[in-house]
Order: sequence, then C-alpha cells, then structure tokens
Amino acid sequence: MPPIHLFWFRRDLRLSDNAGLYHALKSGLPVQPVFIFDHDILQHLPRHDRRVQFIHQALVALQTELAQWGATLDVRHGTPRAVMQDLCADYAVQGVFANRDYEPSAIARDKDIYHDLQAKGITFRAFKDHVIFEKNEVIKADGTPYTVFTPYARKWRSALQPFHLQAYPTQSYAQNFYQQAPKAMPSLSALGFEGAPFDFPSIEVAPDLIAQYAAQRDYPAKNGTSKLGVHLRFGTLSVRQLAAQSQHLSDIFLNELIWRDFYQMILWHFPHVVDGAFKPAYNQIAWRNDADDFARWCEGQTGYPIVDAGMRELNATGFMHNRVRMITASFLTKHLLIDWRWGERYFAQRLLDFDLAANNGGWQWAAGSGCDAAPYFRIFNPYLQTDKFDGQAQYIKQWVPEHQSSAYPPPMIEHAQARVRCLAVYGQALKGGN
Ligand SMILES: Cc1cc2nc3c(=O)[nH]c(=O)nc-3n(C[C@H](O)[C@H](O)[C@H](O)COP(=O)(O)OP(=O)(O)OC[C@H]3O[C@@H](n4cnc5c(N)ncnc54)[C@H](O)[C@@H]3O)c2cc1C
Repeated sequence: MPPIHLFWFRRDLRLSDNAGLYHALKSGLPVQPVFIFDHDILQHLPRHDRRVQFIHQALVALQTELAQWGATLDVRHGTPRAVMQDLCADYAVQGVFANRDYEPSAIARDKDIYHDLQAKGITFRAFKDHVIFEKNEVIKADGTPYTVFTPYARKWRSALQPFHLQAYPTQSYAQNFYQQAPKAMPSLSALGFEGAPFDFPSIEVAPDLIAQYAAQRDYPAKNGTSKLGVHLRFGTLSVRQLAAQSQHLSDIFLNELIWRDFYQMILWHFPHVVDGAFKPAYNQIAWRNDADDFARWCEGQTGYPIVDAGMRELNATGFMHNRVRMITASFLTKHLLIDWRWGERYFAQRLLDFDLAANNGGWQWAAGSGCDAAPYFRIFNPYLQTDKFDGQAQYIKQWVPEHQSSAYPPPMIEHAQARVRCLAVYGQALKGGN
C-alpha cells in the first residue's frame, strides 16, 4: 500500500477554499478524503432529520467532484475513534489532516484521536477554517478574551488583513488526491434515516440582498437575510469567501459574521456556557418550567401571534428569522419563566443552521445570562415588536392565518403581568444586581 495522508471532512464539506484540505494536498503524499457519520451523534437524532439529509447531499456532491479527479470519498459510519482505527488498517496512513472544531465535545474527541494516532506514530494536524479569527487571535491588550461584542468587533476589524479573507487554492493541487475507483456511499436509509424532497436554502445569494441587508434584515416577512446559516454551519460555503464578497457590500452583514466568530471564541474560552449561565448569578433563577406552557410554546399556540408565527415557521421549515428568534426566546424565558436551556435544546433539534456556539449565545443573550446580554429588566414586548417589525402582519398572516378568529387561543399570560412576575423572579435571583 502506498503511504498516504487522510483528510477528514467535518464541518467543512467543500473542496474549494478549504484550509485543512489545502495543507493536506500540499503535504507531498497522496490525500485520501474521508467522512465519518458519527454514531454517537446520529443515534440521538430523529429518523427524518433534515440536517443528516443535508450532509448526505453535500457528500454526494463531493463524491461527484472527486470522481473528476480520479479520487473518491471514503464514507464510514461508526464512532470516530473506532473508524479511525479501521482507516489506519485499510490504508498506509502517515498523517491525518482536518479543520478545527471549537465545541467542547469535538475538542475532546480530537484529543482522543490525536493520542490514538500518536501511539501509532501517525500525526494529526488541524487548521483554522471555520472562522476568520479563532481562539486568542482577537484578544484585549492585557491578553484576556473579550466578553463584550462591540470592542471585540472593533479589534477584529482592525486585525483584518487581505490575507485573512484570501481563498486557499485547493483545486490547484487536486492532482494530489489518492487515485482509486469510486467507493459506494452508505444510503440515508442504511444510516437509519429517511429523506424526503426538501428545498434547502440556496448557496447563492444575490449581491443585492447583501447590499440591502441593513435596511431589510429586521423584517421577517421580507426575504431580507441570506439564509446561509446551514451552509456556514456545515461548511458547504467558505466564510472567507462570504466575508470577502460582502465586505464592500454591507458593513452590517459583515458584522453578523463577526458575531459568528465572537460566539465561537466565547465557547472556546468559556466552555462552561454549554451547561450553565455565562454569568453564574443567573443559575439562581427559580424557573417555573411548566411542561404544558412549554408544549404550547413549541407548538406555536401561545396566543401571541408573533411568537406563534416564529415557532410554526421553525417547525415547518427548520428556519426562523433572527428577529423572531429573539422574540420567541425572550418570551419563553421571561414571559413563561422557562429555563433557557429548554428552548436552546428545542432550537437545537429543529434548526437547520443549529450551531452550538451561536445558539447558546443567542439563548443566553435572550435570557439575560449571556456575556453581552441586554439587562434582564429590558423585556421584549411582543406587541411593540410586532408593530415595529411586522406592522402589516404579513409574517403573522403567513404562519398564523387564524390569528384574528375564535379558533386562535387567547394570550397565555397578559404581557404586563408576565413582566412584573419576571422582574420579581429575576430580581430575587440577582438580588437587584445584573
Ligand atoms: C435564540 C437564538 C438562537 C440562535 N441560534 C442560532 C444557531 O443555532 N445557529 C446560527 O447560525 N445562528 C443562530 N442564531 C443567530 C441568528 O439568528 C442566525 O444566524 C440567523 O438568523 C440565520 O439566518 P441567516 O442565515 O439568514 O442569517 P443572516 O442574517 O443572513 O446572517 C449571515 C450569517 O451570519 C451569521 N450570524 C448572523 N447573526 C448571527 C448571530 N446573532 N450570532 C452568530 N452568528 C450570526 C450566521 O452564520 C448567518 O447565517 C440564533 C439567534 C438567537 C437569538
């Protein structure tokens, strides 16, 4: 068997402008690309999970592209450590290349794999690809991480050089893929999943949409945001490419990509946010956690049309507009006093673009417990939010057509009453502080 390097695809499902793949292809040995359907993750997902379908489609596309280079993607199913052992038995692996993942469970997985490989004398090298700036690249002058977005974003912008957005010319080295006949990929059903025809958000976004982003992005009835979340999440699109394209079109759009980096950085520095509040005092909140209330929120039956529209959009499409994510999350935590982790988990199950860092950041922001959250006593008024961002009720009519009829339930709790209750419960936990 000829000596080779493996390139392990994870959240970077593309050949073009892929940092780790570029370094692998330049490494001097033929590169065998691999993907592992992680049994530990898949076993917890429902049979019709659209994210698995999205990944599967992306792998089929990669397989087709690789065939043009006389190469093939080796797709396996199992636990990553066991599969990596199998791959090392099947190929004469000298080294493994990948791109970094900043989630605590992925870091632990990679550490185990690093040690397993090291014991065999095989190297494991990981690269920055998922974000523009990672880890300690944007930190305060005193060497500590930022926990407030605005100064972080300022430093991020001042650190940005053309190099950071330059594409890795992966394709120029495509002749270095290991040559072998196409390998069959496991079907969705062999993986235990069902697929159904579904229109995933397009990877193409009109430059006009980005140029108009600042004016349009807050109105859920408008097609004013990119819906690229799922492509950024699974890396079918390079964030460098998107940032480079949008840089001169919309500063506000670029700012959203900086938020994305910010939350990845927060997760890496403060992994305790996965299980608890960024600000520990917020762990003291006496949540009501009423299961029936939670079920009504999930189903979009709260009696607050803007909240219900958002939840129904999420349930039907796997997407929810950012403004409405903020409103529904605020409603769950502040109006219903349900632990933000319940809502976070529900979004994690449903969002096509689910990403631990951004989802956790968004939920902790809404709950007030996050690193750069609004003060707890600022409570979204769903009616005022509706007046401001869906004044003609276009979005509401789309998802809650019965909202003015007797078939629609009355509000679960009156806004003013919920507000007073929330202030009392939060105030008690925080003893007047924030
Ligand atoms: C409670 C809550 C939960 C959220 N959960 C997620 C999640 O699981 N995954 C996720 O990617 N985003 C999440 N967000 C952030 C944001 O709502 C989505 O990124 C955005 O709505 C996705 O739509 P889009 O692709 O059209 O974004 P656009 O508005 O077109 O923005 C472009 C890209 O920028 C990034 N981005 C935009 N806003 C944010 C933000 N506030 N934080 C981090 N990245 C951002 C995303 O990658 C997004 O695709 C959440 C926000 C809240 C309030």
